[in-house]
Amino acid sequence: MSLNQSPVESRLQTHTEIMSRKALTIINADTATFECIYGRGCEGKCCQNGRPSLSAAEQRIINALLERVLPALRPAARAVVAQQGYLSRRKKLGQPMLRVVEGWCVFFHNGCVLHQFGLSDFNDYTRYKPSQCVMFPLEPFGDGRWYVRQHGYLGERWDLFCLNPHASQVPAVQSLATEIDYCRRLSDSGTETTDRNDAPKTITSTTDDAARKITDSAVEFLPDPLDTAKLGTKIVR
Ligand code: SF4
Repeated sequence: MSLNQSPVESRLQTHTEIMSRKALTIINADTATFECIYGRGCEGKCCQNGRPSLSAAEQRIINALLERVLPALRPAARAVVAQQGYLSRRKKLGQPMLRVVEGWCVFFHNGCVLHQFGLSDFNDYTRYKPSQCVMFPLEPFGDGRWYVRQHGYLGERWDLFCLNPHASQVPAVQSLATEIDYCRRLSDSGTETTDRNDAPKTITSTTDDAARKITDSAVEFLPDPLDTAKLGTKIVR
């Protein structure tokens, strides 16, 4: 807010800025369901063997934070990161992937430590967390549109229970309001990336056909200025 602006003027300006963003098209918006139950029966399965790859910019962000983060890591993960760093030699999408120690991402310790630091520092869990983790379970379709990962949809191979559309009745577009807003901002900036769990990156002709069939039901999500307030309220995972 500028010094000359009233709170109302400032809010209107924010509203205008948000509404000028492009809509996000989610091709399976009509049918996808999703509900994160971290802490209610799930202890963070999506971070088990979680190996997101990190852009150079994301690495710089974590490098600047690392000294503070180290004491919060699991002892085994802390020892490995202190000796060998948090990146492995494996690459995905041309970028190095996070290390896994004892079956879990090095940054997992009763939830994502990067998530917790983002909340603590900025009330915004997206600040330090890899974008591939923040976007989950949304995925770029490859043509500017997006989809929600679901079992049996576009060749989804991950058997994670929360990707089962029968696991929840909550419409994904409702439960994923924060992720949708995040992906919209990525799309606006032209920096969208793909997922962290080795799902097919190339849409085959078969799935292309499937996607074409459902294109008619694609729904565009325009920015909801109130959703931006939810950024800091998501549970830690
Ligand atoms: S959410 Fe955090 S702990 Fe989980 S895979 Fe991503 S960086 Fe690792």
